[in-house]
Amino acid sequence: MSINSVKNKKLKLPIRKIISNNLFIIRLFHKASAGLLLCNIITTILDSLARFVSGTLILRFALNGINKGQSFKSIVTVILFWLAVQLAITLSLAVYNQSYLPRQMKEVKKYFCNIVYEKAAAVELECYETPKYYDKFKKAVDECGVRVEGASSAIKELLSCIIGLSANFTLIVVIDPVLFFFVVIPILAIPLQIKMNKVRYIKNMKIAEENRRKDYARRVFYLADYAKEMRLSEMPELMLKRFTESGIRIIKIINEHGFSLAVCGYLITECNRIFASLGATLYAVWQTFVRKGMMYGDCLVIVNSIDNINHAIADSANVFMKFQENALYIENLTEFLSYEPTIKGGRAELPDDGSIVLDQVSFRYEGASHDTLRNVSMRIGAKEKVAIVGHNGAGKSTLVKLLLRLYEPDAGKITYGNINIKEFPLSEYRKMFSTVLQDFHVFALTVAENVMMDSRKDDDTKIIHYALEKSGLKQKTDSFAKGIDTLLTREFDEDGKVFSGGEQQMLAIAHVYSKANKFVILDEPSSALDPVAENEMYIRMMEACSDCGMIFISHRLSSAVMADRIYLIENGEVAECGTHQMLMEQDGKYADMFRRQAINYCE
Ligand code: ADP
Repeated sequence: MSINSVKNKKLKLPIRKIISNNLFIIRLFHKASAGLLLCNIITTILDSLARFVSGTLILRFALNGINKGQSFKSIVTVILFWLAVQLAITLSLAVYNQSYLPRQMKEVKKYFCNIVYEKAAAVELECYETPKYYDKFKKAVDECGVRVEGASSAIKELLSCIIGLSANFTLIVVIDPVLFFFVVIPILAIPLQIKMNKVRYIKNMKIAEENRRKDYARRVFYLADYAKEMRLSEMPELMLKRFTESGIRIIKIINEHGFSLAVCGYLITECNRIFASLGATLYAVWQTFVRKGMMYGDCLVIVNSIDNINHAIADSANVFMKFQENALYIENLTEFLSYEPTIKGGRAELPDDGSIVLDQVSFRYEGASHDTLRNVSMRIGAKEKVAIVGHNGAGKSTLVKLLLRLYEPDAGKITYGNINIKEFPLSEYRKMFSTVLQDFHVFALTVAENVMMDSRKDDDTKIIHYALEKSGLKQKTDSFAKGIDTLLTREFDEDGKVFSGGEQQMLAIAHVYSKANKFVILDEPSSALDPVAENEMYIRMMEACSDCGMIFISHRLSSAVMADRIYLIENGEVAECGTHQMLMEQDGKYADMFRRQAINYCE
């Protein structure tokens, strides 16, 4: 199957889905603000009717009145009365559209985004690491606000088309039933209009896909994340090439669909102009001036109303296209929201004390060809310091992810205090751990907030200073004019402080000091520190964690010496286990690795 056919398949949704997806968003809208939905409907009806009265009925009334010999004064009085009503309606609609609507819309968007963000925080890590899910999640989060507005404006447009169409249609048929035949001509052209919109829709979606590629190439040029690679490699040329190729493909798409769009457009316009507008005009003029059977006002509004009907039909076909486009994006949102996290918690009470035990645990990442962890058994006592060592890619970080219940073992079990960890409420269980992960991120928040990983309360100040002191960062943060209230990163503040890799890790470690937890997990927290700083950090951490269990992962073995027990992981299995002394005496793989690393340090 070609890429194009795959894309087209993706672009088409059955009518049932288009309706159900749009209804889904409208139901959510109703939940977020039933009042706003009702106001939108009322104001749209009011606006459409007012336009029909002003543009058609008043004109008809005035001309027919003159035709019938009604007094000029009575005609002007009615017109002035309507003008006053129209001014009041326009003023209220302006206030509604410029003040009430934007305010309420913000609330509705907030409601939608909250639902999406809450879900995003609840789904398991796997969803972020699997492209299939991640793409959907990203689109759902990116698009949620835009799609609510899209659905809301499409409903308003549809309503206004229906009102315009039925009001003009009724008026024409009431004036002269024969005109019905001219009015159905534009209606007969609807299938052609739908065909045209389908082609236009496919064209727009294909262009949007190419624009996404262009946007990516554009982003790579200015985002800081790529700045180094872009300066040290041939990437700029490659990206420019991709950018240009997308531009060429867009021109091709435009050419590919241009002819059929032009033919459809021509047929619709001519069909309406010749058969409907011209036909109805000739009939009305003949009735008015030859047969004298129609009044001037009726003659004029017929021409006007036929045009209005043509526009309303063209607009409703566009609205259908908007619903279709919305439905496609809402599909991501519905799939995202209907996703049920598989990692759930239970209701068991967390014991105050206990060991964590892994019993024959195996795990394989989705799509991987082999198990990352195989029959791993280990014990981490309540106040024990356990080192997990091994080469890169051995499976150490994966083990931590299983411990934190970011993933679920495929076989075996993990218990805490002899109870399967699945039985505990998820957030309570995770709160047992203070964790410093390898890929720790500094948030664009203050030093204090980064240390607490929470909003700062007044009585936190002492703890924050203590944590910074213990992690070795205090001297640095004391040198900042705003101290612990200094904003980190330059995302929002030109004067924001940027930490080096080592300082970022110290900050992460400060977080560990700020909380009293049952277990501390350090996943390669020292990789950006020099050997001396690393040694100091471990000595301090051991001190700080005297009352809790500690699991530290490292491929540098100098720190493992301090552990009560060491597990050497190789190819996802526990290869050796014991104290440093025992493993050195055993003279196996650990001893060999240790000696080789020690030589490097001596050198
Ligand atoms: P370590 O921490 O020992 O360096 P990891 O646990 O990070 O090793 O990785 C173990 C293996 O699992 C590696 O081969 C790695 O490529 C693979 N791996 C890690 N994360 C994922 C993932 N999200 N999806 C698929 N494979 C992964």
